[in-house]
Amino acid sequence: MSKEEKLREFIEACKHVGLKITPQRVAVYEVLLSRDDHPTVEDVYNEIKKKYPFVSLATVYRTVETLEEMGLIKKVAYWGGSVRYDANISDHHHLICTQCGAIKDVEFCIDWTPPARMEGYRVHNYSLHIYGVCSKCQAKEN
Ligand SMILES: [Zn+2]
Ligand SMILES: [Zn+2]
Repeated sequence: MSKEEKLREFIEACKHVGLKITPQRVAVYEVLLSRDDHPTVEDVYNEIKKKYPFVSLATVYRTVETLEEMGLIKKVAYWGGSVRYDANISDHHHLICTQCGAIKDVEFCIDWTPPARMEGYRVHNYSLHIYGVCSKCQAKEN
């Protein structure tokens, strides 16, 4: 699905649940769709501010929460730092830099199918986090 189609789908979904469609709300989703670096709410806010200087951080927070509730974005589980968001909701894995916190999408096949239940948990999906040092941080080491 293209970015435009996803935005249209979001607007339709807003109408469906009776949520007011504001340019700021659409802009939040647009920023998330255009970035694959898994930004924080603050990162999104800093980008929105350039176009909508009067938007508040609270509005951006609420919009991100709404987008998550609507299933349009996902929280990236991360062991440190702030919560990061992902507009790529398809199943994929993450490469995480332990020095700067960069998160990159990676796709590869693992020959393992999770069982429907594990340790009493009902399993619905899984993702791998692979930790390392990104190329930018490696360049700084030299
Ligand atoms: Zn790094
Ligand atoms: Zn991702």
